[in-house]
Amino acid sequence: MNMMRAARLHEIGGSFAIDQIPIPTPGRQEVLVKVEACGLIPNLRNVVTHFPNWYPFLPLPALPATFGLDSAGTVTAVGDGVTAWKPGDRVYVNPGIGCGECRYCRQGEPTRCNSYTFMGYFGFGPGSQAIFERYPHAGYGEYLTAPAANLVRLPDTLSSAQAARLGYLGTAYSAIRKSALRPGQSLLILGATGTLGVGATLLALAFGAARVLVVARDRTALERLVALDPRRVVPVLLGEGGIAGQARRHLPDGVDAMLDTLGAKAPAELSVDAMGAVARGGRIVQIGGVAGPIPIDPHPFMCAQLQYIGSLWFTPTEGEELVGMIGAGLVDLGLLEPRAYPLEQLNEALAAVESQANGFTNFHITHA
Ligand SMILES: [Zn+2]
Repeated sequence: MNMMRAARLHEIGGSFAIDQIPIPTPGRQEVLVKVEACGLIPNLRNVVTHFPNWYPFLPLPALPATFGLDSAGTVTAVGDGVTAWKPGDRVYVNPGIGCGECRYCRQGEPTRCNSYTFMGYFGFGPGSQAIFERYPHAGYGEYLTAPAANLVRLPDTLSSAQAARLGYLGTAYSAIRKSALRPGQSLLILGATGTLGVGATLLALAFGAARVLVVARDRTALERLVALDPRRVVPVLLGEGGIAGQARRHLPDGVDAMLDTLGAKAPAELSVDAMGAVARGGRIVQIGGVAGPIPIDPHPFMCAQLQYIGSLWFTPTEGEELVGMIGAGLVDLGLLEPRAYPLEQLNEALAAVESQANGFTNFHITHA
């Protein structure tokens, strides 16, 4: 039997151990991918340590389990019924999998499926365990099997290491679509220098935003974003007066849309402050998971026709659209500095990314 190395978690709160396990065989409509790079998620240590207590309704895979969310590599084998892919194709694997049978899955909207599950991370419903059992492999193993429908073809200009960042970029892409931002309009990005925020800024410019208000605490990091396009990117420094007040000094009517990328550790007061910058009819899209509650007063919300939208991940189709933009040169990932770790250093890498994560560094695992 052909074997591979996989970094697996054996107990909640434990470290990852390098195990030798069999290379899986792709089933019908599935492919086998040799993983070249997999992203490092700052939240993964929390997930494998605290999620069973914090969020018991978000199931983890049965242990021992291979984790690793954003995988990019090369197809090495295809199962029966696969016609669009062949060995040698370079791909990103969208790890979000639905049941495949409910009406949302059939509509190409698996993020709405009751069983929606991230391979190599966690699931969203009671149907997730069955999906983990069918797809137990993920990016911290050398090979994984995945549904052919979840692959995104990579252009030559996009390296596997860069593609390991597509989860964050895709999340921002889907959020901007849901924000209904039109060319020439304005977008406020709260938490703009973080891992979601930097990608959101690049994409907002590519979508043709006339003004991108980037809100963050780090002046030097904000300057890096402004340098992307000094005419269109407007810095809003946290701690120098309110966010809404600063934003409305630049745009008195307010911004057309807002992305909230703040994570669970950030104070929700910042989100509430920033929402005051949104113009009448504007949309606020939540992708960071800031710890609420967020107060919404229905009467003024109604009168101003505001919308508050939660957005989860992105569909395989949205992933293809995003990669199309990158391949066409509309989004330049050149500002992301790669920081690669070999699989043996996964535990050290997760500790490093937890404390050092920033929007400009692309932390990932490489399989030598
Ligand atoms: Zn479904």
